[in-house]
Amino acid sequence: MTTTSVCQGLPRVLRAQLEVLYSQVPATECDNCGKCCQLSEEERRAGWVTMYPLYAIEYMNILDFVRTDLPGREDLLNFREEWPLRCPFRDDSLPGCVVYPVRPLVCRTYGVLGSEEIEEAIRRFGRGMPASWIEIFRRWEGSLVCPRVRVTEPEKLLPYMEGRIHYRYMAMIEKLSEAVRLPQEGRREDFRRISGKERVSRWTWGGFNALILSPDDWFREEFPAYWRASKLAR
Ligand code: SF4
Ligand code: SF4
Repeated sequence: MTTTSVCQGLPRVLRAQLEVLYSQVPATECDNCGKCCQLSEEERRAGWVTMYPLYAIEYMNILDFVRTDLPGREDLLNFREEWPLRCPFRDDSLPGCVVYPVRPLVCRTYGVLGSEEIEEAIRRFGRGMPASWIEIFRRWEGSLVCPRVRVTEPEKLLPYMEGRIHYRYMAMIEKLSEAVRLPQEGRREDFRRISGKERVSRWTWGGFNALILSPDDWFREEFPAYWRASKLAR
């Protein structure tokens, strides 16, 4: 019989804190073409990844959603591709993203700032920040611009710009992820031996699935090689 180490759900208090964080990102609407949910081979070679970084707390939040709200989608739980060309949650029929209510921070922030807002954020809130940080901010945000995104909560934009340029949301989500120790208890010892690490704080959906949800015999026999070949675990 195939067995898998049990992974409990995300504690309610952590979910509430994650939702408070998400609520600070201005809501948007867009043309829902799905281009930002997939990559070309060339983009992957250049280092781009869909739905990344996915933080440990976000993984647990999405996992709970898939288990309770998407019955019958074992394909999503069995998905172990670390660096796919297409996000496994993209469905070309409506609604497009099957985990939209719990999508991660990186997807919520996509396209919120346009080129003008990026420069405005630097002007208003970048004073005193090292030039190298500003440049990273400009480049990173610039890679997320989509002219077909419309912000529907403009009143949140200024505080969001300030939080974003100071990397506040990433810091908060890193902190919250410290409370979610992945892998789960039954795999920690083996994981420590395989990786030399205590935990994974961000990875991809497929990577976390391999670590958390894979059958015990697969984890024992295949995970060490999977880990050695992986490129995105942090
Ligand atoms: S954000 Fe832009 S690229 Fe992504 S689905 Fe919406 S319209 Fe398409
Ligand atoms: S989680 Fe949803 S919005 Fe994000 S990349 Fe996947 S399909 Fe797109």
